[in-house]
Amino acid sequence: MSKYGKIMVSISMFFLTMLGLYGFQQGQNVHAKSIFVDVADNYWAKEEIEYLYGNQIISGYEGNQFKPTDPVTRGQAAKMIINAIKEKESTPSKPSFSDIKGNQFSGYIERAAQLEIISGYDDNTYRPNVNLTRGQMSKIIVNAFDLEKSQSSKTVFTDVPSTYQFASYIQTLYNERISNGNGNVFEPGKNVTRAELSAFISRALDDRFKVTAQDPTPAPKPEPDPEPTPTPPPATGLTGEVTADVLNMRSGPGSSYGLVTAIPQNAVVTVHSIDGFWAKVTYNNKTGYVHKTYLKLKNTSGSVLQNRIITIDAGHGGKDVGAVNGDIYEKDIALAVAKLVEQKLKSAGAKTVMTRSSDTYPTLDGRVQTSINNHSEMFVSIHTNAATPSASGTETYYDTSKNENGAESRELAIEIQKQLIALIGTKDRGAKDNSFLVIREQHIPSVLVELAFISNSGDLAKLTSPEYQELFAEAIFRGIKSYYSK
Ligand SMILES: [Zn+2]
Repeated sequence: MSKYGKIMVSISMFFLTMLGLYGFQQGQNVHAKSIFVDVADNYWAKEEIEYLYGNQIISGYEGNQFKPTDPVTRGQAAKMIINAIKEKESTPSKPSFSDIKGNQFSGYIERAAQLEIISGYDDNTYRPNVNLTRGQMSKIIVNAFDLEKSQSSKTVFTDVPSTYQFASYIQTLYNERISNGNGNVFEPGKNVTRAELSAFISRALDDRFKVTAQDPTPAPKPEPDPEPTPTPPPATGLTGEVTADVLNMRSGPGSSYGLVTAIPQNAVVTVHSIDGFWAKVTYNNKTGYVHKTYLKLKNTSGSVLQNRIITIDAGHGGKDVGAVNGDIYEKDIALAVAKLVEQKLKSAGAKTVMTRSSDTYPTLDGRVQTSINNHSEMFVSIHTNAATPSASGTETYYDTSKNENGAESRELAIEIQKQLIALIGTKDRGAKDNSFLVIREQHIPSVLVELAFISNSGDLAKLTSPEYQELFAEAIFRGIKSYYSK
């Protein structure tokens, strides 16, 4: 039998429950005998616990125990909430979360998700066995009981700044007389206990249980004036334009941190610092962290390329010579042009990453990994084409099949292609969508350039000419610069 399973309600228990409610109705000073051995007759949440128990919203444990100070898991909370609003379990063939199949609470979690009472984590998990925090609880209660959400994220609690992700929900609980917190603090990061959750749900269900606003300690009224937001760090002259449909700002540098706010596409954020993939940013007076892959980073002054991390990938190498024409190899032309692009980017202040700097062969996956390991912000792969002798021209590829910055990749491809045609004068074969592995398996703006055809005599002359190699590199450099200038 599950630990949380409902215990049998004995006849005597039934009478004791009635006595408990009767006692409550006589006034707070009457402490009827508790039905649980571990809930004292004068326990602060005794009436609320027994109210929920009597309404079969929460169960006790064997041996007439309630375990009031035990934490509540996210799975258990889903069950309590669904019971409280008199909803039923739901078992669709495809669960809403990847980690709830077979979980004893999956039907409740599913129904709560359908009703938009709960939400999971970014990785599509719900984490049913993780304990629920008081902050998370505030959101669930507000959603479940359709409480009128506070217009402001200012709260009366000294430990809940307006920037906190659940601030407006916590203030709503205060407005609705569901929680006074603990003195002047709410302790949003603490696990909610069974007694606390019982109290909050009872107060949401029945006005009799509501707290009085002045009790136990008068809490300060929310300040009516400009909210005192934490002073954001000094600006660095770097902004980021959101390239994703929506970008989550989190309270810390990682996807497991709580959500601060969601930033819409094309919004521009102020970037304070970048550590690895995480950028500390301010948007709409809120400061937090976002994944920089979904920001087009722009310096507001100086070189647009200053500090940008760009990976240049010279195609093929080593045992893999690429396309061949006589004793001319694609791998050598690609490396020569890649090194020239590297120099130009470095001169403009960029941080360059080379997947290879000599005649070696990194695997395709290895090239992608090099880019990711260096927290690259852009990836440019350089190749030459080959076909029948009559085929000629230049083309630049981007991928929209999997790369989450497919649209940005396309912009970059168009800019580079335009510059190549202008400087080299080859036939314009266009910017094209194709899912080459190196541009598909990462999510930064990524392109693959086919400089020209090694198999065409006119193109070959340009590909092997040092002057033209310089121009190929200059065109790619200008394309990158132009992308960042838009
Ligand atoms: Zn190639």
